[in-house]
Amino acid sequence: MNRPRAAVIGLDCLEPSLVFGSPAGSLPHLQALMARGRWGSLASTIPPITVPAWMCMATGQDPGQLGIYGFRNRAEAAYGPLATASAEWVHAPRLWDAATAAGLTSVVLGWPLTYPAAPLKGAMVSGPLTPPGAEGGVWPPSLAPRLNRWAGGEYLFDVKDFRTAPRRELYAQLTTMARRRFAVARGLYGLYRPELFMMVEMSPDRLQHAFWEQPGLVAAHYRLLDSLVGELVAALPPETLVLVVSDHGARTLEGGLALNQWLRRQGYLVLKNPPERPAPLAPEMVDWPRTRVWADGGYYGRVYLNLAGREPQGAVPPDQAEALLARLGQELEAMAGPDGQSLGNRVFRPRDIYRATRGLPPELILYPGGLGWRALATVWPGDEPVFTPGNDSGPDGANHAQEGVVIAAPAGEGRLPRAGQELEGARLYDLFPSLCAWLELPQATPGPGSVWAWLQ
Ligand SMILES: [Zn+2]
Repeated sequence: MNRPRAAVIGLDCLEPSLVFGSPAGSLPHLQALMARGRWGSLASTIPPITVPAWMCMATGQDPGQLGIYGFRNRAEAAYGPLATASAEWVHAPRLWDAATAAGLTSVVLGWPLTYPAAPLKGAMVSGPLTPPGAEGGVWPPSLAPRLNRWAGGEYLFDVKDFRTAPRRELYAQLTTMARRRFAVARGLYGLYRPELFMMVEMSPDRLQHAFWEQPGLVAAHYRLLDSLVGELVAALPPETLVLVVSDHGARTLEGGLALNQWLRRQGYLVLKNPPERPAPLAPEMVDWPRTRVWADGGYYGRVYLNLAGREPQGAVPPDQAEALLARLGQELEAMAGPDGQSLGNRVFRPRDIYRATRGLPPELILYPGGLGWRALATVWPGDEPVFTPGNDSGPDGANHAQEGVVIAAPAGEGRLPRAGQELEGARLYDLFPSLCAWLELPQATPGPGSVWAWLQ
């Protein structure tokens, strides 16, 4: 009997409305998978960002359990720069660890937070954040020379200088990167014939951040991805369960909320050395003994208390922390936007939304305008407005959205039960137990609402 096989084809930031809302025949390969299988929105992690979302999918753990709250994390209760997460931070078994333990072969390609590549039964090419030309991005190391050969050029772990490269050059890089990644995917698949195949292609994320205001370019790249997925799926054994997934979606960015400026205005953050021109908040600017709260920006906002007994110059007595956080949360949710109407901020407490809170989580997680706005760490010399038209780390037309994509279908001509029907309520966290069940691994039992339930 054939062993069960699964192929997870991750397309970072692929937006459900641009896939499921596209005209019939415009994305023929994805639409064929939808017709043979099940499809729908996939609820992402809070926050919906590449790191940690893909690793949550690969482990079934939430960001708090992993202790990874973003690309950058507080490694200690100091005021210095945040530390960048790496594969070495992940202690939970990942799908390929479970497959290896069961004697199955896995191929992992481009999965975020897998650098440095670690031994497994099969092969691993690490993901974005792999330093260019770095050793340690490929397991087994003897595989490295094949990548460029399969790719027909330099294999690109990620696009170079995506915030600053000239636009035309960036678009060319995106298409080249996608073509080469899928060429390597086909090469690895042919060499290993793995029971578990998992890849992530980053170009849709880079594309949408750079070209969201040019829907024609976005649609053209979606068509390219559709044809590359079709080519890969055609090379898989027909009984393979294919999952096309994204870690989050994309939406129009309305503007920036300078969160630290707002904290200054509210009296929570006090600067003793304000910058001469707009700059990200830096520890040496801050009058720490008079500062109760500060924040970091990005696709979402992270709010930290300056807690006595924890931070070096903590100013909030621990017995006052709860009341302060409750008041701050209410003020953030009540914030009015530049037009005087409610901005629609959403505030989360990590301890309320995660099963554990390892490491140093932010005290509050903020979705400015429900993710319509970017949180900026920038501070100005004085009391300048807290709202800006754009992003502070380079031009950007899109922010991340909470819902990603899932399409589940057999690679060949078979059909899933209730083929073609839209799924409701799928969650990114369901993928790990569902794939464990599909591959007959003992690690986890899928719940009744999981992807697994759709396959029955
Ligand atoms: Zn992403």
